[in-house]
Amino acid sequence: MKEKQKNLYVGHSVRFTKKELRTKWALVVLAVLIAAISSVSIWNAAGLQAAVDRRTRMYVSDVSLQLTDDINYRLEHIITDLEMLEDSLLRIDESNNRDAVKEFLNRKASILGFTSIVAVDLEGNHYCTSPIQGELLSMFGVKKSMKGEKGVSFLNKQSILYTIPIVQDDRVVGVLGGVRNKENMQMLIQPKSFSGQGLTCITNQEGKVIVSPTDLDPFMELDSLFAKEEDDGKLSQDIQQMQKDMLDNKSGILFFTAVDKTDLVLAYNPLDSYGWILLTLVPANIISYETDQYIFQTFCILTGIIVLFVMMLFVIAGMYRSYYRRLEKIAFVDRLTGEANNAAFQLRCQQMLKQLPPNSCTVVLLNVKNFKLINENFGSAQGDNTLRHIMKVLQQNIREGELAARADADNFFLCLEENDPEVIQNRLSDMVESINSFGSEQDPSYLLTVQQGAYTVDNPDLEITIIQDRAKSACRNRAAQQDGVCIFYDAAFTQQMQKEHDLNELFDAALTNGEFQVYLQPKVWIEGGRLAGAEALIRWNNPQRGMIYPSDFVPVFEKNGKICKLDLFVFEQVCRSLHQWIESGKKPFPISVNLSRQHFSDKDFLLKFKAIADRYEIPAGLLELELTESIFLEDQGIEFVKHKIDEMHHFGFGCSLDDFGAGYSSLGLLMEFDVDAIKLDRRFFLNVSSPKTRDVVKSIVDLAKKIGALIVAEGIETQEQLEFLKDVGCKLVQGYLYAKPMPIPDFERDWLNKNAK
Ligand code: C2E
Ligand code: MG
Ligand code: MG
Repeated sequence: MKEKQKNLYVGHSVRFTKKELRTKWALVVLAVLIAAISSVSIWNAAGLQAAVDRRTRMYVSDVSLQLTDDINYRLEHIITDLEMLEDSLLRIDESNNRDAVKEFLNRKASILGFTSIVAVDLEGNHYCTSPIQGELLSMFGVKKSMKGEKGVSFLNKQSILYTIPIVQDDRVVGVLGGVRNKENMQMLIQPKSFSGQGLTCITNQEGKVIVSPTDLDPFMELDSLFAKEEDDGKLSQDIQQMQKDMLDNKSGILFFTAVDKTDLVLAYNPLDSYGWILLTLVPANIISYETDQYIFQTFCILTGIIVLFVMMLFVIAGMYRSYYRRLEKIAFVDRLTGEANNAAFQLRCQQMLKQLPPNSCTVVLLNVKNFKLINENFGSAQGDNTLRHIMKVLQQNIREGELAARADADNFFLCLEENDPEVIQNRLSDMVESINSFGSEQDPSYLLTVQQGAYTVDNPDLEITIIQDRAKSACRNRAAQQDGVCIFYDAAFTQQMQKEHDLNELFDAALTNGEFQVYLQPKVWIEGGRLAGAEALIRWNNPQRGMIYPSDFVPVFEKNGKICKLDLFVFEQVCRSLHQWIESGKKPFPISVNLSRQHFSDKDFLLKFKAIADRYEIPAGLLELELTESIFLEDQGIEFVKHKIDEMHHFGFGCSLDDFGAGYSSLGLLMEFDVDAIKLDRRFFLNVSSPKTRDVVKSIVDLAKKIGALIVAEGIETQEQLEFLKDVGCKLVQGYLYAKPMPIPDFERDWLNKNAK
């Protein structure tokens, strides 16, 4: 049951799959949108990053070049100092005042910031203002200066000896040198930019560190980087390029990541002297640090916004879904049974039919016969319970994928995945049986008759309302109706309906064009064969279709109430004839007019008849109204009919019970109603030789005599039937034996005039 209940909604979701698909598409679009936003952001950030990298490269390059110039200048300055010293020295030396030279050098050493000043002649005789470790003449720089060039020698890892040749008369006569200590050199390379975050050192072209800052570690890492043998992609290429550039005295910049994962920028710039190279090491984020922060923040904000946006969408979607479900419930659930209503059935059925080939589904309408009686007799609460019970049984008896719904009132629709009438009939009979085998909790003392109409859907493209209508018209097909039997809609149905439609269309014009004619059929006294009266019977003489008989159109017009109009027409024609007869001094005979049960839906219908009769001044006793037994099944009930019969008498109309014995005849009815005549149906006389017929007819005739009603035997065609009627004491007959129904002029000529006396 739960499963089925679920089905109701799942079913809609099939219909709303388009909607769900739309939701899915919306999600896909959303995902694409988010992906696009993210991609654009990443692309933008990457662009920003590249721009920042370019800026960093330019910045580092500019600053390190400046630094290089600065160091060049300082180194140049050292040499200039030494050259000025050389000049002074030569002049003092000329005066051969050795003490003055020493004193001069000692003084200049402290002024010029040298830890020691050295003067060496070609023989190796030398003077140092402070002692110097090592053999001077074997020092690389000293040797170079002896050859007339400037030179540099490393005394230990702590100090450097800068030397220039002492030239006299274009001859190198010795070497003058000045020693700068470590601190002094470190001051030389202390970077003045990079907010104290940069490091510099001086190396030779092979990368050997000559002057280093206090903290050598970052540069030590360089050694391991340079030593890297394995090919490390771009980095190793860059390093190779750097080594080559250093040998070629070119500047350049290298980006790399340190062991501690910090990104670094290394700028290398050749100095003007000694083949030295200035290395400047700066963190790569020196410029991008803040930008990175912003980029990160922007990312966080963007992610936050996207998350919020998605959450909002989900909340809205959730709200929409629950709202939608509520609407769905209101729209598609039958409030009485809590199950599918007609709208749900129509939607689901259409989907089901589309998914299956033609002729694989049958739509069934089940209608509870005389359901009104249940409400009337047991109360509407019990009526509601019954409807719920039926729905429950139907739900239990349909299979997965099939449908059951209450359309309205006591009408239930099924859509079964069946096409074999026998199987369908069996399944429906089982359902009806289950409906009637009430559980212990529900024990009403009535059995339900369920009328069934079915249409096996051969054209699934038909509108669902047409499909339902076909099942409905099958169910309402009175001609075929048999309790407990399912009537199947077929092509004959359509023809019949078309025919009915055509007749209805023609009705109004036919009435005004005088196509309807009143025929009269005489009622005759058996004794003497004289005219006793006549019955008015309608005929439709259509120019195209010829004569149409009441059996073809009366049931059609009974369905829509047109019959009432027709009965009044007949009644008026009859009144007109009676009036003429009276006016022309002819003896009038009573004429009976058939009265459809449809009149009884208007409680004052007799007033219309009375008005016509009065208009034609018809005396009482000349008009008789024939009621069929079915009138007693009228909704308004027996009391209402009794009352109407009394009213007929009051207005001066006779009343006869037509077709007695054709349907639900009950002798009890005769006692109940104060009718003037009983018209025995012709079926009684089909087998007049049977003693049983004789007994039945005899007892009806006797009973009629007792209640003071005349018996009219209808449809008498043979002499034998006439003899039989005489035998059982029946006085009046109507039948072809005497006359067929005939146009009024014929009746006047052949019957009225002859019986005038
Ligand atoms: P009904 O009122 O029982 O009328 C008697 C029917 O039996 C008439 O058929 C009549 O022609 C037919 N009949 C008479 N004698 C014989 C006979 O010896 N043998 C046979 N086989 N039939 C005979 P009709 O005129 O075709 O009318 C059929 C029914 O249509 C009527 O049955 C009546 O129920 C209905 N009807 C006719 N005219 C009217 C009308 O103006 N208003 C209403 N509401 N119903 C009408
Ligand atoms: Mg009749
Ligand atoms: Mg009759």
